[in-house]
Amino acid sequence: MSANGADLFVTALAVIFGLVLGSFSTCVIHRFLAGKSILSPARSFCPSCGRSLTWSENIPVVSYLLQRGRCRGCGKPIGARYLLVELACGLWFGLLAWRFGPSWALVVYAAFGWMCITAGTIDLEIFLLPDILTLPAAVLAYPAAALLLGRGWQEPLIGALIGAGFLWVLRFVHMKLRKVEGLGLGDVKLMFSIGALCGPLALPLVFVLAGVAALAGSLIYLRRPDADGLKTAVPFGPFLALGAMILLVWNG
Ligand SMILES: [Zn+2]
Repeated sequence: MSANGADLFVTALAVIFGLVLGSFSTCVIHRFLAGKSILSPARSFCPSCGRSLTWSENIPVVSYLLQRGRCRGCGKPIGARYLLVELACGLWFGLLAWRFGPSWALVVYAAFGWMCITAGTIDLEIFLLPDILTLPAAVLAYPAAALLLGRGWQEPLIGALIGAGFLWVLRFVHMKLRKVEGLGLGDVKLMFSIGALCGPLALPLVFVLAGVAALAGSLIYLRRPDADGLKTAVPFGPFLALGAMILLVWNG
């Protein structure tokens, strides 16, 4: 096989793997939002009627399109979120494989991005980054950057501490000035892993990207029926995650 053929094969494999893990992500998101156990039952079920899904209803993206976004049992709409999350994971895995080829960067960034997409989607819905996702990432990102990505022990640690520290200060100042919790501790934990993987020098750009994306995103939140002018709450986590993901693909 030519070098290009091998690249294409790895990228296609990564996209399929991303779609499957994206499907798992929609399952985690739904179960977390519904307050159900993430592990049991092991089989996927319809979010409306609870019916177990057969294998042919469980193929990422394809099943959704074939069933026109509806459950085959109860006919209720499944929600575009399922399709978008699957596509986002497939796109992310494919982009990484195309950019980095088979490497530790592909594995580490894929896992990190999967966590970002899953936690970020939950944050968009209920303004909360779940500890069950952000904590393991915070614990694993530093040794992964040092050992697997070969960045040494110093730089990732400085990045993690500056990232988390800056957000903690921002959170403190916001609470003093506005008397409400504008930034959650989840954002601080997320920034710890972002800082470890992106490194200290990339952090200003991550914050700029996140700020611009959050500004654009807030326009959507302002149009919601429960919007309250400038006091309208907008989660920051998904935009921090997006900024970090753009930077990781860009910088490597
Ligand atoms: Zn159903």
